[in-house]
Amino acid sequence: KQLHSPVCLIQPPSLQPVLFVFLPWSVLTTVAGRSVTPSNDCEASTLPLKACTLAGMASKTTSTIVPKRIAHVPSLQSASLQRPVIPTEFGAKVPTNIRQRYLNLFIDECLKFCSSSQEAFDKALSEEKVAYERSTSRNIYLNVAVNTLKKLRSLVPNSPSKTSNKKVVSHEAVLGGKLAAKTSFTLNRSGSLRAEDLTGAALYRRLKEYLMTEEQLKENGYPMPHPEKPGRAVLFTAEEKKTIDSSCRICCRCGTEYMVSASGNCIRKEECVHHWGRLRKQRVPGGWETHYSCCSGAVGSPGCQVAKQHVHDGRKESLDGFVKTFEKLPTTDGYPGIYALDCEMCYTKQGLELTRVTVINSDLKVVYDTFVKPDTKVVDYNTRFSGVTEEDLENTSITLRDVQAVLLNMFSADTILIGHSLESDLFALKLIHGTVVDTAIVFPHRLGLPYKRALRTLMADYLKRIIQDNVEGHDSSEDARACMELMVWKIKEDAKVKR
Ligand SMILES: [Zn+2]
Ligand SMILES: [Zn+2]
Repeated sequence: KQLHSPVCLIQPPSLQPVLFVFLPWSVLTTVAGRSVTPSNDCEASTLPLKACTLAGMASKTTSTIVPKRIAHVPSLQSASLQRPVIPTEFGAKVPTNIRQRYLNLFIDECLKFCSSSQEAFDKALSEEKVAYERSTSRNIYLNVAVNTLKKLRSLVPNSPSKTSNKKVVSHEAVLGGKLAAKTSFTLNRSGSLRAEDLTGAALYRRLKEYLMTEEQLKENGYPMPHPEKPGRAVLFTAEEKKTIDSSCRICCRCGTEYMVSASGNCIRKEECVHHWGRLRKQRVPGGWETHYSCCSGAVGSPGCQVAKQHVHDGRKESLDGFVKTFEKLPTTDGYPGIYALDCEMCYTKQGLELTRVTVINSDLKVVYDTFVKPDTKVVDYNTRFSGVTEEDLENTSITLRDVQAVLLNMFSADTILIGHSLESDLFALKLIHGTVVDTAIVFPHRLGLPYKRALRTLMADYLKRIIQDNVEGHDSSEDARACMELMVWKIKEDAKVKR
């Protein structure tokens, strides 16, 4: 997961206990709960609640300062033309009144930069249509619509959002409309959730609203079950162009073409000079510049990091050896479980392979955490991103098959799995699972796919916490926990807008 994260962590991770797969499940949970739980756990589960309330308040106060825009009085310009109306559709995924509200807000913004009312109406209608079509649920729509609104505001010359685009437009502020802008925001708090709504079966029911649809799983490149061949996955996105010659590969770090033998070894000894950071757009006087986050080098500048050899991803080329979670009878606690997971990978002769998997439960406790020995020879431990070292893997005999056995026992087909771009983890685990909440989808990038927001950014923006910044090494349980906390935050936030 950490593959192209900008965070540089060269030090080995703090030693994490490795669990053995052959323990019965009950033992496994207790052992893991006791030994792997970090000391700051209670902090982790209580602090963000406060933090997010404060953040919520802050955004409300700031967004009420905007009523100045009423001065534009867009309705005057459009008085001659009837504003478009969204037709009522019963049982629609998003209530018509919410759509209409956003459409009106879009029109207000478009009127400020479009040359005619008709043009503004058309523009607003098409923006609303895109938002509606891209959203599979009311909650996703709210996110997409708020982002669209922000985008439109940034198109208005001298708009206040240009100087303060860091401000979060809260759904309340938007949905509250003019009344909310005038009154000093005594929010309808009847929607706020009690703690028991956020655990067990109640949490499960709420999370169901954010599940990915089959369509979304497909378009986001999740492994799907092959209709005829069990154990085989199918992929509906043709992301990777297959090179015609199977002995010829393209390095996923530096882009160089290189030759491999039939067994996957590099034919020529050739160093891989690359940038390990991400490309970042930075504002400079007079415009924008794009730099690598690793060394601030410009796009196209020679790499700042030298590795022994070229590597490739390859996960989406080997679609065999997959397992699918089973349909199971309901459990005694009345719901099929909620977990967040995160995987680490290294480069082997085959491509990217699993080296560590961490599963946490909805109480943010680690319930499974193990290093995993890759099936083929490791060519690059990828320690900078995974935190997993050669020594970690030397002492493990757990294989991918062992991990799959544990997970198939722990999860059923109805278990909700939460992760950030979870398809990447599912490919590493060779696991097919359809009940998924993906934080990269729930919190979409304002530009839409293929852009995704980094988990680190989401945590900083919504929970005001910095993650993946630990000098002792990257910790996959931190990422898994972050996903779970983000979803709990999101549920609370969305509960506030429900009327
Ligand atoms: Zn660099
Ligand atoms: Zn390379």
